[in-house]
Amino acid sequence: MDIKNLDHSYIAQTYGRYDAVLTEGTDAGFSGDGKGYIDFGSGIAVNTFGANDAGWIEAVCAQTRKLSHTSNYFYTEPQSRLAESLCTRTGLKRVFFSNSGAEANECAIKVARKYSHDKYGDGRATILTLQGSFHGRTITTLSATGQDVFHTDFMPFTPGFVHVPPNDIAALEGALTADVCALMLEPVQGEGGVITLEREYLAAAQKLCADRDILLILDEVQTGNGRTGTLYAFQQLGITPDVMSTAKGLAGGLPLGATLMGEKVSETLGKGKHGSTFGGNPICCAAANYVLGRLDDAFLAEVQAKAAYFREKLLALPSVTAVSGLGLMIGISLKAGDAHDAALKCLEKGLIVLTAKDKVRLLPPLSISYADIDRGLAILADVLAQIESKNDTEQS
Ligand SMILES: *Cc1c(COP(=O)(O)O)cnc(C)c1O
Repeated sequence: MDIKNLDHSYIAQTYGRYDAVLTEGTDAGFSGDGKGYIDFGSGIAVNTFGANDAGWIEAVCAQTRKLSHTSNYFYTEPQSRLAESLCTRTGLKRVFFSNSGAEANECAIKVARKYSHDKYGDGRATILTLQGSFHGRTITTLSATGQDVFHTDFMPFTPGFVHVPPNDIAALEGALTADVCALMLEPVQGEGGVITLEREYLAAAQKLCADRDILLILDEVQTGNGRTGTLYAFQQLGITPDVMSTAKGLAGGLPLGATLMGEKVSETLGKGKHGSTFGGNPICCAAANYVLGRLDDAFLAEVQAKAAYFREKLLALPSVTAVSGLGLMIGISLKAGDAHDAALKCLEKGLIVLTAKDKVRLLPPLSISYADIDRGLAILADVLAQIESKNDTEQS
C-alpha cells in the first residue's frame, strides 16, 4: 500500500492532512513526491532553523552518539546546562522538563495549585484563562482552553477553570474571587487566531494578580524561543510571569517541554511531586542548547527585521486587510475567500502556510532567508489575487 493508504488504514484519523507526503527537509523547507515546498510554517513553530540546518543536525547527532537516554534518576550535562541557560536568560529560578506543550502546561497548573494549597489550604484552586485561548489536548489543558468547541465528547473535564474575555480588565477584576489561585494566558493567542494581548491589559493583569498573591502563568509554548523577536515574548511586554511554560521551537524539531518557575514557586515542587520518563532527555536538551546558543541578540534583531519586512510586504497586498501578531508569528486577514482554501492553493504552488481561525497564519523558520521570504510571498500574493478575482467574478 502507498503511504497515504497506510495512514488511512492504520492511523487514528484525527488529522485533516494536506495531500502531500513529505520525505526530506531542504534549505527552503521540505520536499516530497518530486516537489519542493517553501516553508512558512516550521511544523507549527517547531523547526526553529528550518528542517535542514547543518548545525542543529550535528548537535543532535553528536549527542546521539555520546548518550541518548538515561532515566531522570541520574544527572546529565545537557539537561543541567539547558536549565542554567533558561534561568539565566529569563530571570526565573527553576525548570521542570517534559515532552510537549500540554505537559508543560500541566506542570504549570500543578505548581499553581500546590503553591496555593500549601499556603492557603483547600478552596483556592480555580485558574482563570482567556476566551479564545489554547493550552493543549489533555483533559486538563482542554479544560483550561477557553473555546467551547473543545469542551465536547470527553466529559467529565477537570473542574476549576473559568474563562474570561481577553483585553477586558474589568471582567478580569470581577473574576478574581477568593477561590482563584492563578491566571494563565498566552501573550499572543496562537491557535485562537494570532491575537496579541494589549500591553496595558497585561500590565494591569500582572498587578491585579500580584496584589492578591494570584500567580501569573504565561503559556509561551508557541510565542517562546525567539518566535516573537525576543527570547520569550514577556521580555518585550513589560511583565514577568511567576510560571512560564514553553515547548514547540525549544529543541528546534525534537519534543521538549519546559516549565519555568519564578522565585515565589521555586521550591513548590519537591521530591516525588512530579516526573516524566522522557522529559529532559539528553538528545532533546542538546538540541535545545544548540537552539538557545544561536538565539543571541544579533539573531533576535534579525528576527525583528524579517518580521517588519513581512508586515510591510503583506500590508502592501491588495487582498490583505490586516496583519496581526508579533515577530514571526503572523496572522493575515483576507479581504475575500477562505483561509483554508488559500492554504490549499499555496500548497499546490509549492508554499506551506498555516491557518488559525479565519486567518492565514505564518510561522516561518526564524532563519529564513530574504530570498525565500520573497519567493514565498510571491506565491502567496498570486494565490490571494486569484481568489479575489474569482470572488469578484462570482459576485458580478
Ligand atoms: C501548541 C500549543 C500547546 C500544546 O502543545 P503540544 O506540544 O501540542 O502539547 C499549548 N499551548 C499553546 C499556546 C500552543 O500553541
